[in-house]
Amino acid sequence: MDDCLFCQITNKKEPANILYEDDEIIAFKDIYPKAPIHVLVVPKKHILSVDHLKEEDKGLIGELFLVAKKLAKDQKISESGYKLLFNVGEGGGQVIGHLHLHLLGGWKK
Ligand code: 5GP
Ligand code: ZN
Repeated sequence: MDDCLFCQITNKKEPANILYEDDEIIAFKDIYPKAPIHVLVVPKKHILSVDHLKEEDKGLIGELFLVAKKLAKDQKISESGYKLLFNVGEGGGQVIGHLHLHLLGGWKK
């Protein structure tokens, strides 16, 4: 997907502050953070949204959550707690048409 920002970040055509990467997933800091810690956990495969998931993507979605959990630990917000969020479609506030899981946390208690 040449015109997809998150595919371009995945393919290193656009810069990002990458915190995690494996064969299937990349995670980077949100450029306009909505929390003290705001990381986007993104499958490298171009999937439009949760609404476009297929049966075959079951394992990948599980991996996204496990990477989010690992990143929460790395970012030291496991104990204080965090939010995980998918915006789905225009009405759900999704702006980038490439599936991503928001990891948000770091607010003072
Ligand atoms: P959505 O609203 O689609 O669920 O979330 C898209 C997120 O991508 C937003 O939180 C926005 O701040 C972030 N974003 C938009 N453009 C860029 C960019 O160029 N780089 C990074 N790292 N994040 C971006
Ligand atoms: Zn894409």
